[in-house]
Amino acid sequence: MSALQIPGWSHVSSGKVRDLYVNEDDPDQLLVVTSDRISAYDFVLDTEIPDKGKILTGLSKWWFDQLNVENHVISMDVPEQVAGRAMICERLDMFPVECVARGYLTGSGLAEYRSDGTVCGIELEDGLTEASRLSRPIFTPAAKAEVGEHDENVSFERVVEMVGEDVAHALKAATLNIYSRAAELAAERGIILADTKFEFGARADGSLVLADEVLTPDSSRFWPADQWVEGQPTPSFDKQYVRDWLTSDKSGWDRTSGERPPALPDEIVEKTRDRYVEAYERITGQKFEA
Ligand code: ATP
Ligand code: MG
Repeated sequence: MSALQIPGWSHVSSGKVRDLYVNEDDPDQLLVVTSDRISAYDFVLDTEIPDKGKILTGLSKWWFDQLNVENHVISMDVPEQVAGRAMICERLDMFPVECVARGYLTGSGLAEYRSDGTVCGIELEDGLTEASRLSRPIFTPAAKAEVGEHDENVSFERVVEMVGEDVAHALKAATLNIYSRAAELAAERGIILADTKFEFGARADGSLVLADEVLTPDSSRFWPADQWVEGQPTPSFDKQYVRDWLTSDKSGWDRTSGERPPALPDEIVEKTRDRYVEAYERITGQKFEA
């Protein structure tokens, strides 16, 4: 992961998708640069998706503006070389909890429900299936994993152990509130927000701030409402083409081998880019300009 030379900013760390730089004159300011990298099955792939960094940055900014909650954005006035794919943010002390809200059952939530009748220890009613709508949204936190490891779903009690009782309750309340607001906005656009993940951090005074990316296809499952059928997997605006191709015979990749996945063919790259653009345009109602 190649860090850029950005005058006035020093590289501090890189995640799977983002590169973080700190302001050399103000250690409380971070430049969060979103790359075109894409990850699947906990690997960062060798192939990039053109404009993905701009799409995710634009979408996060749009959501931050809609949501009436404290967030980490200071300015979009960033160095020219990262224009459109970076934001200047408050540097926060991040909580090591992935704050997931689910309004529908699928993925790891459905897997746990099928084996135990619960999701993150929360008991759910009988008879739910793939893509079932839950009677109320639930908070299903995960513990942030080390690079290359899978985030692990945890119980609310585990979150209390990690961050204390007060913060745990605050994270849960904020997560469910923001989810509900976002789900309403998405519904007006014919989109189901099946689930989403937030990350929060604390300011020096202890106040809670919404950080990271918000409500992008990388952090959320957005389903076209007119394609949702209970009992059937719903195609979402995300990496589904990538995952499907990687696990198909065509890729020649064995997910259980531990080997890195192969480069993506152009067609898969293009279709995936189209999906990200479509998500941006449907949600914001604005044309994506690269
Ligand atoms: P990881 O960081 O575990 O590799 P990831 O692959 O999801 O996770 P990215 O999304 O690529 O990471 O990078 C974003 C990183 O920046 C995350 O670790 C996130 O917690 C952190 N982050 C986001 N906003 C802030 C902030 N305001 N202050 C400090 N750190 C932040
Ligand atoms: Mg991330």
